Amino acid sequence: MNATPETDTVDVLAARADTPAAEHGVFLDSAGSSLPPQRVVETVVGHLRREAEVGGYRAARERSEDLAAVRTSVETLIGAPTGTVALSDSATRAWCDFFYAVPLSPGDRILVSTVEYATNAIAALQRARATGAVVDTIPVDPSGRIDLEALERMMDDRVALVSLVHAPTNGGLLNPVREIVDLAHRHGALVLLDACQSVGQIALDVDELGVDALSGTGRKWLRGPRGTGFLHIAPSVLDTLEPRSLDLHSASWTGPDSYTVADDARRFETWEHDVAARLGLGAAVDLLLELGPSAVEAAVRARAERLRNALAEVRGIAVHDLGEHHTGIVTFTVEGVAPAAVKDALADRDVTVSVSPASSTLLDMTARGLDSLVRASPHYFLTLDQIDHAVDECRALTSQR
Ligand SMILES: *Cc1c(COP(=O)(O)O)cnc(C)c1O
Repeated sequence: MNATPETDTVDVLAARADTPAAEHGVFLDSAGSSLPPQRVVETVVGHLRREAEVGGYRAARERSEDLAAVRTSVETLIGAPTGTVALSDSATRAWCDFFYAVPLSPGDRILVSTVEYATNAIAALQRARATGAVVDTIPVDPSGRIDLEALERMMDDRVALVSLVHAPTNGGLLNPVREIVDLAHRHGALVLLDACQSVGQIALDVDELGVDALSGTGRKWLRGPRGTGFLHIAPSVLDTLEPRSLDLHSASWTGPDSYTVADDARRFETWEHDVAARLGLGAAVDLLLELGPSAVEAAVRARAERLRNALAEVRGIAVHDLGEHHTGIVTFTVEGVAPAAVKDALADRDVTVSVSPASSTLLDMTARGLDSLVRASPHYFLTLDQIDHAVDECRALTSQR
């Protein structure tokens, strides 16, 4: 009854035992905010209790080694050298911290992709207005991936930064990274990778990717707490960028008229942070390291493929995922039923999905004439029976009409 793919090397039964809610309904929203494992919940709640007993300062001091280890765990996960990860309170904050630190002059160009996340696009437009820089969109090929030849034609020495979304929020696309990085670097441009939807479900290594910076979030595929995120900055650019805001942790006040900026990624952190959440993020990353990022990637892919393929077979359901290489995100529409109504109807049957509105990825959704999509994102803690059950519930929505 609880079938799992033969290809699984993750111990799914153990993962389910560690995720009590995995039994209650079919949870298909790890791209939104996943179900945390017990150890994350206990870490966070336990620390809050300790703060109530001895105060926040002493509670943090008791966990100082564990807190320092969180950065190291994230660095291990993404193959980053020591001192190149800053912990943050969201991926948005992390992304913006880097982006707003990149110097821009009138006429400089910022390249974004068609699947750019709304936050990134808004930030780019804001900075273009303030600095006289221009924002240009990189075309996609017929499969929906970034068109490398088109990118090559549009590159010039005015391109200051290429913003790349590894896996978009509104579909199963996985963008190529390395070729784009090499192209951008040949023209002296920086590459900032939004890895929110890839970290935790795709095994990745910043050295292989070659990016100048990468942002990630805790609450999605990493199964960490909300209000956590991180920024990796490559050593080659770290000390060339000064954050737009500093504090007494990212910098030191050295005299009445002087300060020095931290010489590692801590220059992008703030002193104050949610200690419980940060410890919870560490617990989530350590669990992933124990399971093995490649094993998790294979497990997610097997579940998403089964879901995508089965939905594509249902008359009245259209799958909308772009690209040839797919992630754990499956997007679809049900003919004649608005995505929000599909989500609500599925919720009534204990199947949790979310809706991707056009406003999150405006360029791509507008180009494809889409208002919104149903998004289903299965993690490794689902059984195949649960996937099949979700497909049955979706099928029932088509024949109900
Ligand atoms: C969710 C998401 C973000 C933002 O992450 P936060 O942790 O909410 O700041 C950025 N980019 C993409 C592609 C996302 O899916």
